[in-house]
Amino acid sequence: MENPLFLTQTHLSRVALWLTLFGYPTKVVTKLTKKEISLCTGGRCKVLTTSRRLEKTLKNLKVEYLILPNWEDWKTQLCMVLKHFNLKPNLSLNYCPLCLGKLKPVTPEEVKGKIPEGALRCGKNFTICPFCGKVYWEGGHKRLMKKTLKQLKLRCGDLFNSL
Ligand SMILES: [Zn+2]
Repeated sequence: MENPLFLTQTHLSRVALWLTLFGYPTKVVTKLTKKEISLCTGGRCKVLTTSRRLEKTLKNLKVEYLILPNWEDWKTQLCMVLKHFNLKPNLSLNYCPLCLGKLKPVTPEEVKGKIPEGALRCGKNFTICPFCGKVYWEGGHKRLMKKTLKQLKLRCGDLFNSL
């Protein structure tokens, strides 16, 4: 498994999901302990949190971090992460949101029987996670994602205009 780019906590899991969809694999842990944070030392990953109390630990371990306001909703929080780390909000869909495995392209024949017939017929750009075996494809989900992406664009404003 590759090292995640970001490490965060359960209550920021929607932010984490979208970062992963954008091609920035983000690991979610129940609690950001010193042990978990030390996985990020040496620039291996960055920590996203809403807890000011962690600041001292993060500084001591020299781990890059961003403290997000917990009163903002996840979309604004996500925009803040994108802006702070200068990330592009493109739907890369190249990491498994479940386990952060790097997705591999597969042909429809290869995933026959693993996904519903309809998806096999109408979907395209099939990928599989080599770690958990989950199959992904472009189809209905992507339409839903695009809707959320549109809302995000409105929320983030300037960040998206430069794309
Ligand atoms: Zn997976």
